[in-house]
Amino acid sequence: MRTVVVTGSTSGIGLAIATAFAKTGANVVINGFGTESEIGEITSRLDALGEGKILYHPADMTKPAEIADLVATAISTFGGVDVLVNNAGIQHVEKIEDFPVEKWDQIIAINLSSSFHTIRAAVPAMKEKGKGRIINIASAHGLVASPFKSAYVAAKHGIMGLTKTVALELAESGITANAICPGYVLTPLVEKQIPDTAKARGITEAEVKSEVMLKFQPTREFVAVEEIAATALFLASDEAKSITGTHISIDGGWTAQ
Ligand code: NAD
Repeated sequence: MRTVVVTGSTSGIGLAIATAFAKTGANVVINGFGTESEIGEITSRLDALGEGKILYHPADMTKPAEIADLVATAISTFGGVDVLVNNAGIQHVEKIEDFPVEKWDQIIAINLSSSFHTIRAAVPAMKEKGKGRIINIASAHGLVASPFKSAYVAAKHGIMGLTKTVALELAESGITANAICPGYVLTPLVEKQIPDTAKARGITEAEVKSEVMLKFQPTREFVAVEEIAATALFLASDEAKSITGTHISIDGGWTAQ
């Protein structure tokens, strides 16, 4: 039975990925913020989907010691980590000259450094088993930039470099490392940035959706969380063992332009 760790899996893309792996019968370690009742509801819903066990760990992705404990708990409870999905992420939209220093630090910590900490902690157990899958949820913003998202774009470009470096280091260990680069997916993360983008650009919230977000997505449709989850399942499969050090874009053609 596989053990899968998904950071930031109480909402959006992470929750969809955790759900998809739970359906395959894997043990899934979920993580992220939420009320006790929300987390209880998610845990029991996922538990009912397959034979594997669902374990919630409350690690805050800005805290290296808590991140190390998340991975150590997965290993001590289930005997290893077969698939590590680094998904936790936040956004802040503001002009560079007004960008709060603490927001910069928080975004770099959650969207970039947390993946260094999870990978560092999980790799020895993966090496022992001679196999493993590391899947980093990057973004189209790991490949191209947009204004007013300095920390996010910097962190997502950083995760692309980390993915490639780790893939090269682990290439002979049966462990792959890849990134998934979604375009706009309508999750709470995106919904929250609509008012801020409207303010930063001086336009309405409806215009943010049509003129800013979907303007760059040629399909003119938001990506569904299930599409990201299906790609994560594929990257975790035996058939994807030679795919490493690269990324799969799921962005409706955005970065083809
Ligand atoms: P979301 O806000 O729906 O979910 C984010 C998750 O991360 C939640 O479970 C939240 O509790 C958790 N989280 C936030 N801060 C945390 C912390 N300090 N410690 C632990 N957990 C924390 O967001 P989402 O849209 O599902 O985004 C998930 C990932 O996908 C992010 O890395 C994001 O950058 C990336 N992404 C999203 C989109 C999009 O359009 N939604 C596009 C490209 C990439």
